[in-house]
Amino acid sequence: MKIKPPRPHAVPRQPNLYSTYSWHPNMADDKILRVSKSSLSTFQFCEQQYFIKYVLGVKEPENDAMVRGTNVHDAYEYILAEKLDIHQAHALRDNQGFQAVDDYFQSLIPKSQVKKGWEDKVAKYTGKDYELDEDIHLSKLMKAEANRFMKSDPTWFLPSANERTIDAVVELDINGKKVLVHLTGIVDRLFQDGDGNVHVHELKTGKWKDTTTKYEGMAKEMAFYVYLMRKSDDPEFGDMRVSHWGWDHTAGHLTDTKYEGGIYRFVEPVRVKVVSEMLTDLKALVSAHLRYEDNFNGKSFAVKDSGAERFICEPWCAVKGFCPKYGRATMPYEMKQKAEGN
Ligand code: SF4
Repeated sequence: MKIKPPRPHAVPRQPNLYSTYSWHPNMADDKILRVSKSSLSTFQFCEQQYFIKYVLGVKEPENDAMVRGTNVHDAYEYILAEKLDIHQAHALRDNQGFQAVDDYFQSLIPKSQVKKGWEDKVAKYTGKDYELDEDIHLSKLMKAEANRFMKSDPTWFLPSANERTIDAVVELDINGKKVLVHLTGIVDRLFQDGDGNVHVHELKTGKWKDTTTKYEGMAKEMAFYVYLMRKSDDPEFGDMRVSHWGWDHTAGHLTDTKYEGGIYRFVEPVRVKVVSEMLTDLKALVSAHLRYEDNFNGKSFAVKDSGAERFICEPWCAVKGFCPKYGRATMPYEMKQKAEGN
């Protein structure tokens, strides 16, 4: 694994202000804490993992799920931005019906991987074949989109924002202390209706599970976007009224056998209670940084009890080799005391 210590980034529209994941209270006043949707999600999962990945900068090697996710995101963004002709789809719907619309949507799937150029942000074909079933995920997604198109007003079918970065600087009150925080995130898609209501929608390439943990995790991710848009000083988002959120899982539901069935798509009105719970988590993250003194030993970040190892560390953590807490549950008592510095 590589270690790339975080560096300060300029905060958009805030001259002379920089944000960093490794912020601590002794930094100069022009440096503030940076929080992204994924850094907050990691903190909610395990504070120790957050410290290792974001504060120390340990980079997980890319795995198949990450590569598949990026390739599907890039291709879908490209289809919506560059390939889909709404007038053509509309004519097919009026004259020939669902099968013709679905065939058209399927024909838009790039035959090889596409990648965004770093310079001009224009997606280009790479000529590289899909190797991780990305085309199957895209085909299922396009069928869901063809179905959505059959029921939509074509004027509002395309997203009003497609993989859009949003930034906000907020002042949070942490036990009476005011702390400036830079929130940043890339929303997958925003959709609008004729009344100005906005729907924020997330794309995942994994499977959906009907568990409270999974639902809460997704809903809190969406709550982060809702809060970000409300607080952003970007004129595009100032008066935006976000009424709904939702998500797709292109591998379908956990009960589906491999690639049978459609994608899992979920939509619900914005839940204020979840936004408030997300804010509580955000404040806990800021509190952990207020205790951090740049000593790189992670003491400032509380760690889940060792009972979590079997269910959290072992199956889900790629940075356990860097974690001083991993493996303590099974360590002989004397060694454990020594390892913990007692
Ligand atoms: S090994 Fe466990 S406690 Fe350590 S960072 Fe990973 S998930 Fe967190």
